[in-house]
Amino acid sequence: MYLRLARRFLVETDKRLLLKAAWMLGVRGLLSVHKHKRRLKRGEFFPPFLYLSVINSCNLRCQGCWVDVDSKQHRIELDAANETIRQAKEMGNSFFGILGGEPFMHKDLMKIFAANPDVYFQVFTNGHFITDDVAKELRRLGNVTPLISVEGSEIVSDTRRGRGGVLSQTMQGLETALKHKLLVGVCTSVCKSNIDDLVRDAWVDRLIEMGVMYCWFHIYRPVGPEPNPQLALSSDEQRRVRQFVVDTRATKPIVVVDAYHDDAGNALCPAATGFTHHVGPWGDIEPCPVIQLATESIHDDVPLAETFNKSEFLTDFRELTAQHTRGCVIMERPDLLVQLAEKHGARDTTVRGGVIEELENITPRRSQFQPGDEIPERSFVYRWAKKYAFNDFGTYSRHFDVAKYEDPDTDSLKKSGSGSGSESGGGNDASKPSNGLPVISR
Ligand code: SF4
Repeated sequence: MYLRLARRFLVETDKRLLLKAAWMLGVRGLLSVHKHKRRLKRGEFFPPFLYLSVINSCNLRCQGCWVDVDSKQHRIELDAANETIRQAKEMGNSFFGILGGEPFMHKDLMKIFAANPDVYFQVFTNGHFITDDVAKELRRLGNVTPLISVEGSEIVSDTRRGRGGVLSQTMQGLETALKHKLLVGVCTSVCKSNIDDLVRDAWVDRLIEMGVMYCWFHIYRPVGPEPNPQLALSSDEQRRVRQFVVDTRATKPIVVVDAYHDDAGNALCPAATGFTHHVGPWGDIEPCPVIQLATESIHDDVPLAETFNKSEFLTDFRELTAQHTRGCVIMERPDLLVQLAEKHGARDTTVRGGVIEELENITPRRSQFQPGDEIPERSFVYRWAKKYAFNDFGTYSRHFDVAKYEDPDTDSLKKSGSGSGSESGGGNDASKPSNGLPVISR
C-alpha cells in the first residue's frame, strides 16, 4: 500500500510541486512543530499552524455555514495578509490554511501566494473558480494545494450548498486542478445526509482513480445562525467515521487527514492544544474558525508574537476547554464559551452580532471525544507521524480534570428521563464509570 501511494505521488503529480510540498510541509513543517514544542517548554506560545479566512464572501449558501457571506464583502487585504504571514514565518511557521467565504473570490489571493514562495498554503475551496488559468498559475507558483469540498451526491450537494448544479461545477474545478497536476485534496463535512454516500470505499476508490492525493473527513458542526442540528452525526456515526479513516489509512493509497485524534486514538481539539488558531476576515484572532469571539486583532499595533503570548482570552480558552473535555467545546460545552466571552469582554466578531445567542441555543452533543471507544491508528506511518508531530503536547495531562467532564449523551438521557431521548442518537454509554475516563497510552 505504501509503495502504491509513493508511486501515485511520483507518477500523478508535478515533481516540482511534490518536492516543494515535501520540503515545506514535511521538513519545515516538522521543524515548526519542533519550535512550537521548545516554545511551550520555555512557557511561550505561538501556534505553529495558522488559519486565515481571507474573505467573507461566497458564491454558495451552505447549510450550517457560520460566515457572514451575505454581508458586504470584507477581506484581509494583501498587505495585512503578507505582514501576518511574515511575522508567523519569523516564528518558524511554514504552513497556512486559507479559508473564506470562498478564498478564490479574494482579488489578491494569487498575489498573497506569489509574495510568499517560502511557505505552503492549503486553500479550502468549493472549486468553482478553479479555471484553466487559475490552475496553471497555481502550478507555476508551486506552493498551494487546493482542498476541494464535496458534500454528497448531486441532490444532497444542492440541498447542502443552497442551489442547483453545485456538484458538477465542483467536479469540473477538481478535474481542472488534476489536469494541471496539482497536489489536490477533497474534503467533506460528514453529516446525516452524506455519510452513506461518501464514507465508503467506493468513494475513496473513485478519488484515487481521479488522481486525488488526500482526503479529509470533517465532522459536521451544528453552529452559526442556521445550525441545522438534524444533520449532526450521532456518537455511533462519529465512531463509524473514525473507524473508516483509520482503516482507509492502513489500506488505501491515499493520504487521509484528521485533526482530532492522536496516534492512540485519544481525542483532541487543535485549538485547545494550541496547534492552530484562526484569523477572521476582519482580522480578529479567534480560537478557531467556528468560535467567532476575540479580544485581539492582527490590525492591533502589537507584534503577533506578543499578542499570542499575552492574550488572556486565548490562554484561558485553551486551559478552560482542556479542563472540561478532550472534544470540541462548541459542540459539548458552548456554555463555557459564553462564560469566557463574559469574563474577558470578548467581542462577537460577526456582522450579524448574534454569537452569544447562537451559543446559548446549541444543544450539547458528543463530538470526537468518545471516552472508552478510542480507535488507535493501524498504520505505523501515521502512528509515528502523530507521536512526533500531532498530539496534545501534554495539554490534557496538564489540564483535563475528569470530575469536570460532562458527557452530553448521558446528560441528555438524564434530562429526557427516558433512556432513549438522546438527540445524538445513541452510542452513549450511561453505564460507563463517570471517572477514570480511558486515555490510551502511546
Ligand atoms: S473547538 Fe471544535 S471546531 Fe474548534 S478546533 Fe476545537 S474541535 Fe475543532
